[in-house]
Amino acid sequence: MWNEESAPRRGLLIILSSPSGAGKSTLTQRLRGWDPTISFSISATTRVPRAGEVDGRDYHFMSEEAFKHQVAQGEMLEHAHVFGNFYGSPRGPVQAAIDTGRDVLFDIDWQGAQQIRNSALGQHTLSIFILPPSIAELHRRLQTRGQDSAEVIAKRMQKSWDEISHWDGYDFVLVNDDLDRTEAKLKTIVEATRLRRTQQPGLTEHVRRLQQEFEDSQ
Ligand code: ADP
Ligand code: 5GP
Repeated sequence: MWNEESAPRRGLLIILSSPSGAGKSTLTQRLRGWDPTISFSISATTRVPRAGEVDGRDYHFMSEEAFKHQVAQGEMLEHAHVFGNFYGSPRGPVQAAIDTGRDVLFDIDWQGAQQIRNSALGQHTLSIFILPPSIAELHRRLQTRGQDSAEVIAKRMQKSWDEISHWDGYDFVLVNDDLDRTEAKLKTIVEATRLRRTQQPGLTEHVRRLQQEFEDSQ
């Protein structure tokens, strides 16, 4: 008999990308609040920590030399140069989560999303792009977040078009107008994708048993 609770699941790599300020971090937190079994891929970066950021929780902060060494050792699943700094997703924790059927959430840019999609894990990837309702609202959100100086905000706004221009490489696109509505849509997408044939390794065995039962009943 099929048992939904004990059916094996393959972990999904859930990628969220957006221009800075569109709501990725907020949606990431909400998704993890909804399902705490989803782990978050803590990126490595060469940028300096912002006030309140904790090493090992928000990012693994490291020198450029250490970063390049890890890339050379093949320890990064993907990596990219963003806003003048290097960012990358360490491979080990992702593989460990996926192997035990847990989903991993990535807050990475379009370059990283593309690399993961084209990797051996590509078939287990769900990529979602978050668009702002308008450029004016994106600017307002960066300002109200209160994390960055006017200069940094201007730099992020300038870069936003570069990120937005890659919206059409993603499986799903959400316009983050009303936060609650976007969160609900995000959960729907994740729940549906978990049912992809390739995410349910127990199906082959189940169909084999159905066949046996069918033949026995003839
Ligand atoms: P990102 O991680 O994409 O840079 P954040 O999640 O930090 O963006 O969101 C930027 C700011 O916008 C935060 O202050 C957040 O509370 C706010 N925000 C996020 N989504 C919405 C929304 N749908 N409506 C209004 N404000 C939002
Ligand atoms: P921030 O400096 O604001 O934390 O992040 C800047 C940008 O880098 C964001 O667009 C974020 O998605 C992206 N980013 C963060 N970590 C990674 C990573 O590991 N890989 C890639 N490719 N991009 C990342």
